[in-house]
Amino acid sequence: MENHVRNVVIIGSGCSGHTAALYTARANLRPLVIEGREPGGQLSLTTLVENFPGFPEGIQGPELVENMRKQAARFGAEYKLAHITSADLSARPFRIHIGHEVVHARTLIIASGASARWLGLEHEQQLIGHGVSSCATCDGFFFTGKEVAVVGGGDSAMEEALFLTRFATKVTLIHRRDTFRASKIMLERAQRNEKIHFLTNTVVDDVYDVAAREVTGLKLRNPKTGEVWDFPTNAMFLGIGHVPNTQIFRKQLAMDKDGYLKTTQYVFTRVAGVFACGDVQDRRYRQAITAAGTGCMAALEAEKFLEEHGT
Ligand code: NAP
Repeated sequence: MENHVRNVVIIGSGCSGHTAALYTARANLRPLVIEGREPGGQLSLTTLVENFPGFPEGIQGPELVENMRKQAARFGAEYKLAHITSADLSARPFRIHIGHEVVHARTLIIASGASARWLGLEHEQQLIGHGVSSCATCDGFFFTGKEVAVVGGGDSAMEEALFLTRFATKVTLIHRRDTFRASKIMLERAQRNEKIHFLTNTVVDDVYDVAAREVTGLKLRNPKTGEVWDFPTNAMFLGIGHVPNTQIFRKQLAMDKDGYLKTTQYVFTRVAGVFACGDVQDRRYRQAITAAGTGCMAALEAEKFLEEHGT
């Protein structure tokens, strides 16, 4: 790792980060990608990706993101498996802290994405890894021959439910409303699957059983009638969306009420030389292809900025 001022530092190694790395590497800017806590981002936790153009039969998410990484590395992008602890954007070069280490950056591309949202139940965090999970691809196998529940009504929940039918004998999809945010094609696939059962107008109030160190059931409630009941299940998978990873920029960059970075012209933050791309600034589209698109834009803008301000 060279100890000098970097032209471009990219935070995050999902679709947008790798694309920004590819473009800035091909512009000979030797970008440094700080991979973050979830290397590969959300694609590394998904299964078959059928809507990324160029793959008529679809491609596995982890393979797609690994290919992106290899492609950027081939042109000189450097990768560092670390996560940043703070950043000082008050003067250029920006100071990016990784624990005690400081990286100086002439331009910064924030591609730190978004992480799974949790329900915030009393016993939820204690049972992560013991039947509570936000990643069916990672943990589904452990529930072979068991019954599981999936919470959510969007595409993620449908995808998780469908994936889990490979292992579980029964998958119950629990959704707080009776209409779905999921795309028609995904919803219909889930509805056609005999292993998937739907519980609508239902919220989870708690998860059992911390003492047994495993999930044995859920406390459910119908928000319309107030009816409460216990529902036996071996696991609870969450597919209720994501929260942007922007905490460390809280006082330095403009954000909306949910913490998504506010950008103008897609990728400009309010600090000159700091660009944002992918899910960290996109609460509307949140697709792999749009993340790649804004990653490309951020890279082109960083390149232009360096030309104008001297590398
Ligand atoms: P999403 O579309 O925002 O859906 C989140 C779901 O979780 C909603 O149904 C929401 O309920 C529910 N939810 C949120 N907070 C909740 C809470 N506290 N308690 C109970 N339920 C809660 O998120 P997503 O499914 O992760 O999808 C995000 C984006 O990625 C979308 O654009 C989606 O199309 C895309 N995606 C695409 C694919 C694919 O094409 N294969 C796969 C995965 C994701 P309400 O509906 O009541 O708000």
